[in-house]
Amino acid sequence: MLRGAALRVTRPRLAVLAAVHDHPHAETESIIGVVRTELGDVSTQAVYDVLRALTDAGLVRRIEPAGSVARYESRVADNHHHVVCRSCGAVADVDCAVGHTPCLTASGDHGYSIDEAEVTYWGLCPTCSTPHSI
Ligand SMILES: [Zn+2]
Ligand SMILES: [Zn+2]
Repeated sequence: MLRGAALRVTRPRLAVLAAVHDHPHAETESIIGVVRTELGDVSTQAVYDVLRALTDAGLVRRIEPAGSVARYESRVADNHHHVVCRSCGAVADVDCAVGHTPCLTASGDHGYSIDEAEVTYWGLCPTCSTPHSI
């Protein structure tokens, strides 16, 4: 994947990519934790830099639901959406409603050439919406 994106293959890049792949929608702090287990001492800045490079190269997608920290995932370029729990912040993937990215057909495009639509559904996850689950 790295070579395909013309990125040099380095151990931090491999470790960050694997961490994002194994932990979809993980936030930076948990990615740093996973990478450190793998590589030992890696600076926070290094992980931030790698995440930015991977995001710029399109290998990783960065999402940032309102009120949440940035989260990363390796499922890119399929225009999927997210459902976010208002209570605990859990995030899950939602495939595009009909599968043909109908959401890209905006009712009015104002002359823009649109190539992406980002939809966030908000609600309560099963754990948070079940009564007496404390
Ligand atoms: Zn929840
Ligand atoms: Zn996702």
